[in-house]
Amino acid sequence: MRYNAFSQTGSPVSHLLLTNDDGIHAPGLLALAQSLAALGRVTVLAPEKNWSASGHVKTMHRPLRVRPTALADGTAALVTDGAPSDCVALALLGLVEEPIDLVVSGINPNANLGHDVTYSGTVTAAMEAAIAGVAAMAVSLDAPEYHSGPLDYEAAARVARCLSGVVLARGLPAGVCLNVNVPHRAFEELRGVAVTRQGLRVYRDALVRREDPRGRPYYWIGGEAPTGIAEEGTDFWALQQGLVSVTPLQLDLTAHEHLAALAGWRWSLQD
Ligand code: MN
Repeated sequence: MRYNAFSQTGSPVSHLLLTNDDGIHAPGLLALAQSLAALGRVTVLAPEKNWSASGHVKTMHRPLRVRPTALADGTAALVTDGAPSDCVALALLGLVEEPIDLVVSGINPNANLGHDVTYSGTVTAAMEAAIAGVAAMAVSLDAPEYHSGPLDYEAAARVARCLSGVVLARGLPAGVCLNVNVPHRAFEELRGVAVTRQGLRVYRDALVRREDPRGRPYYWIGGEAPTGIAEEGTDFWALQQGLVSVTPLQLDLTAHEHLAALAGWRWSLQD
């Protein structure tokens, strides 16, 4: 198994790239930046708007703009009109000159479990880093889906720091990134860390059809917040147990267990 080099040789300070999918002004990103600053140098490059549930994006048919800005506490940051995965690509392709040891994406206000990972801008930002061979993790807080009022990111930010320290020390297997989900409770009330597999999300989407003021129909994908099946060992189960869920993800989506059976089918190019 190949591991990313722990690139602290020659440089005593780790360099972390932070991004998110909720936009540069999201409180989860600020909490992450403040917490991870203790680990080394932090570069923030995040989208100017909310890209939640935008999936894995590569912007190819329009230019990308990047401009300097600052987070609410004055932390220097870069903001772009690109997607979360564009942020990672831009940085790793040379926009950020200094080598990056770890990419951390988040903190997303809601959990990314099971099939969510393919929708999630938070997770696909980490996947982009995995493609580029750089260690990465996505961090999400398991707050209620329709929570009103400000969320407390303190525990998740502290978890992100603890886990980032481990990944900086050990590296990650090539092509693997981590999907981290943190229960919505005080740090002292977290019951530990579980390494989990992707569980099964149960989506309760419903199509809402309405009419605009000119009588034309429009559609909204609505419905209730998704649930999940809390089978032991899954991400969904870990959160139910009050455990931080750490799921190693790879981008090989091949259904390996079905390869042999499908290869045995009588495939023909004759119609
Ligand atoms: Mn989001």
